[in-house]
Amino acid sequence: MSAIATNLQAVRERIAKAARAAGREPGEIMLLAVSKTKPLADILCAAEAGQTAFGENYAQEGVDKMTVAPQGYFLRGAVDRNLSWHFIGPLQSNKTRLVAENYAWVHSIERLKIAERLSAQRPAQLPPLLVCVQINVSGEASKSGCAPQDALALCQAISTLPGLSLRGLMAIPEASDDPAAQRAPFRQLREIADSIRAAGVPLDTLSMGMSHDLEAAIAEGATIVRIGTAIFGERNYS
Ligand SMILES: *Cc1c(COP(=O)(O)O)cnc(C)c1O
Repeated sequence: MSAIATNLQAVRERIAKAARAAGREPGEIMLLAVSKTKPLADILCAAEAGQTAFGENYAQEGVDKMTVAPQGYFLRGAVDRNLSWHFIGPLQSNKTRLVAENYAWVHSIERLKIAERLSAQRPAQLPPLLVCVQINVSGEASKSGCAPQDALALCQAISTLPGLSLRGLMAIPEASDDPAAQRAPFRQLREIADSIRAAGVPLDTLSMGMSHDLEAAIAEGATIVRIGTAIFGERNYS
């Protein structure tokens, strides 16, 4: 088995264990393999080990990988399922068309203007782009994300856009080694989602939890965990 296949298996076991500890079904939680900065060969390795959902932070880097991934390779090999690509990084206006035309999901919407561009630019022959609103919860690692008090209005506006299908919320809290401190911002995200649902906007997705804190996220209700390092190893940004 390749190192990536071994790592994937270990991550799947962590997810299953955390789900059972929380009284949840492991199958409720989607594993998104975050492949930013990693070569296509690593993605193919994960795909051969059964992984189908991949997350990228840089729009063009992800498109380069998905367009050179030889379709026939998957048909010849053990993998015959389609891969799905999730955009999870900061999104500027000049990249919305690339994302709207190529990705299945966007996790990182923080303002209406970007959502409107994605909706208008989503090709009619594709299903609606599945989207999450990124929330700046307390202890957010970056300054990005919509303020919690603005989340309901943004979700209501997005839910009327024809090219998008609003699925839920996403957050990237500050890394912490303390399990209780890890859970607080995830709980906050879940409570924001509950309040938006109570206001009549359906949401079924909480995109939260990374390599170091997926257990805390699952305990608080994550439905997608975004895992890079624990699958592909440390990233080298040079
Ligand atoms: C890089 C990244 C991840 C994966 O982080 P790891 O700690 O490597 O698991 C998840 N989500 C987002 C938004 C990222 O940018």
